[in-house]
Amino acid sequence: MNYSSSRPLNRRPKKTLSRSNTRITLLEYCERKYYLNYYTFALKESNPDLRSETLLLKWLKNIEMWVGEKSHFLLSDYLHALKKWEITEEKIEELKNNMKMEMRADFDYSKERDYEDRDDFFWKFWLSEHFYWEDADSLLEPAIEKVCGNLDRFIASPWNEKVQDYFNSAKFVYVEHPRTPDFESMKVDIAKIWIRDVSVLAGPDFWATFSDTDFLILDWKSGKEEVLDNSISDQLKVYALKMLLKKWLTSLNWIKIEAYEVYLDSMNSYGWILKQEDIDWIIEKIKHDVEEQKQLLVDQNPYKNQPVDLMMFRKTASDKKCEHCTFRDVCQKLD
Ligand code: SF4
Repeated sequence: MNYSSSRPLNRRPKKTLSRSNTRITLLEYCERKYYLNYYTFALKESNPDLRSETLLLKWLKNIEMWVGEKSHFLLSDYLHALKKWEITEEKIEELKNNMKMEMRADFDYSKERDYEDRDDFFWKFWLSEHFYWEDADSLLEPAIEKVCGNLDRFIASPWNEKVQDYFNSAKFVYVEHPRTPDFESMKVDIAKIWIRDVSVLAGPDFWATFSDTDFLILDWKSGKEEVLDNSISDQLKVYALKMLLKKWLTSLNWIKIEAYEVYLDSMNSYGWILKQEDIDWIIEKIKHDVEEQKQLLVDQNPYKNQPVDLMMFRKTASDKKCEHCTFRDVCQKLD
């Protein structure tokens, strides 16, 4: 078993500008954070020392982010075994025990790492609590409990029965491999909506095809519950659009796409059968997002994808956001 949290380097998207939900969320959160995360290379000439520190900070996760990532890993491991009819009580215990070992190994490595060594990228996972010299020992076991508890809650919920029904009845079921994201398969075919020179990335955690016109999308959530009135999340809308575009369509017409976000902490779910207005809205939102991203590029050229001067990337005005930001060390030094 590979206990490393590292992501594969050989499947990263090319240099062209890309738009993904994560990327847009970061841009809206803080433009400087967006710069530090996606344009670290631009510091190479102006500030090589800060560049090497920023590269390191890009891999930092706080405990909450780490719990979210591991919850996705464990649920994916479980669903893949369920799909192959390999699930027994012993198998569930084995999956949880493997996860406990994995998390303890990650934690120990993060705790012992020499953070002055900027070239050690063997184990691409470090906790921001360790980098910033916070005492994180008391957080480890609750984090493990939360991850294993998320799986237990899923198994005890009606969703466990439902996904087994989907494995039985659907023509095709996709379960994501979050340990090894496949950026190629995440690409959304956007030529049909007249967006050029950028790649749009989106990959749901789970989807099922029941017929040529009937689809289901599920996305697991481990963070704070976001209840949207009379709407569903942009992320689900992008996934639905991706499915339509695979058929060279932008209108639902006779196509039924049902999509839900499932919160692992409460097992509450939010979503519905997509409406045409959801699709129309997200197409315009993607176009708008891409234009916003281009404003921060030299010559607004998405193909070259070179950022304008760092000072054009505005810092958030929220002290609360900065308080927990993994980049706060370099951010201060850049002022
Ligand atoms: S420390 Fe604050 S201003 Fe700086 S990158 Fe982070 S969130 Fe943005």
